[in-house]
Amino acid sequence: MVVVGGGAAGLMAGACAAELGLRCVVLERRHRPGLKLLLCGNNRCNVTHRATVEEMLAAYGEPVAGFLRPALTAFPPEELRRWFADRGLRTTVHEDGRVFPASEQADDVVHCFRDVFRDREIPLVHQSPVQGIEREGNGYRVRTLHFSLVAPRVLVATGGVSYPKTGSVGDGQRFARELGHRVLPFRPGLAGLELDACKLVQGEPVSLPDTAVGLFCGGREMARTEGEILLDRTCARGPAMVNASRIMARENLRDVELRIDLFPALQLADLARRLMESPRARRGRKEASPLAPGEVFAFLAGQLPAAASPEAKAKLLKDWRIPVRGVRPLKEAMVTVGGVDLADIDPETMQSRRCPGLYFAGEVMDVDGPTGGYNLHAAFATARLAISAIAREAGSGLAQPPPPRPPRPFRNRR
Ligand SMILES: Cc1cc2nc3c(=O)[nH]c(=O)nc-3n(C[C@H](O)[C@H](O)[C@H](O)COP(=O)(O)OP(=O)(O)OC[C@H]3O[C@@H](n4cnc5c(N)ncnc54)[C@H](O)[C@@H]3O)c2cc1C
Repeated sequence: MVVVGGGAAGLMAGACAAELGLRCVVLERRHRPGLKLLLCGNNRCNVTHRATVEEMLAAYGEPVAGFLRPALTAFPPEELRRWFADRGLRTTVHEDGRVFPASEQADDVVHCFRDVFRDREIPLVHQSPVQGIEREGNGYRVRTLHFSLVAPRVLVATGGVSYPKTGSVGDGQRFARELGHRVLPFRPGLAGLELDACKLVQGEPVSLPDTAVGLFCGGREMARTEGEILLDRTCARGPAMVNASRIMARENLRDVELRIDLFPALQLADLARRLMESPRARRGRKEASPLAPGEVFAFLAGQLPAAASPEAKAKLLKDWRIPVRGVRPLKEAMVTVGGVDLADIDPETMQSRRCPGLYFAGEVMDVDGPTGGYNLHAAFATARLAISAIAREAGSGLAQPPPPRPPRPFRNRR
């Protein structure tokens, strides 16, 4: 079989294929595999989330959740962690549930895959952008500039269209369209939001650590997000904002007003009291937020007269209303909303419903999740499910992976 794309999904697919005894070649557009993996989680690579399958599915939301259920059930977060551990990559869980390699180095994840490829002698051909996939006989011809391959089964794992320098430029969606699939329009998911509040930032970015954000359209609350907001002079990022951008893209929300509670752990009256406190009174008390209300109010100064009552100031801190002026472009987004229509893919196998023998995995499909390891998990789990289905279909007799080899001692490469 041929795997097109050597990113998160393609690397997992190649590794699983070899472990199931399938002959496979991985074709990668760029000079090295996993370029986007290296950028993940600020180069630390948040590979998954510590959560049950049901919790994961709730976080993706529909229609992605329904589609991912079989893949996640077959490969839940703890199985993924075990999969990595069995291949020498230990992982660690942060307080908020995000899972990283214990070394907190993204390139250890890529090295882990490369070790499997080397040990199993899986051919990985770099600098081989696939130009087209055409039906031929009972299979497909996969054409690159310099050679072409014919295979009964092809897995398309070419990613979304964000961060195009990493190699994902929308080729897989084009191949899918040429082969008769519907492709849903691309929109930026997990992108920065442009807000007037960015003008308040004078120098360094400002972190507002624990917030609860309502997304309102025409005065109606459509969704909520929570977590950190990171404001710089261009846009607002951080989980609360990028997750809001994904919801806006998924739900096609326009003219969104954000109503931000900067101190969700405090009632209005408590917050007003805290605003009147002296710094001395505050000292020694354990706060839910690392920021003092007065400090945050000082940042918002200008939104209300300094002489405003503590109640008015507290109300601003609990219900700061800001219209969204724009969303940063797709090339800066962490994920692409849109892609190959899920209705054209069988969620039990990842096989196309239109082209037997053609499979999809990862972000090339209309699959995306919130920030926190959900997107990589979806790429890994869909790739593994596709390969299990191919192995079953190809009659390799190995519907389940063989017992793992003894773990390798963890190698920190620095
Ligand atoms: C800055 C940033 C940080 C992120 N951080 C996280 C995180 O911490 N946790 C998380 O869960 N998600 C994160 N994501 C999202 C995550 O990286 C993606 O969802 C995931 O990589 C998708 O995997 P994929 O294999 O589908 O696509 P990709 O990883 O994009 O891989 C696609 C591969 O296909 C290759 N390719 C494309 N076209 C062709 C062609 N024609 N021929 C041959 N090869 C081709 C590309 O070169 C690329 O190597 C982040 C994304 C970004 C941009």
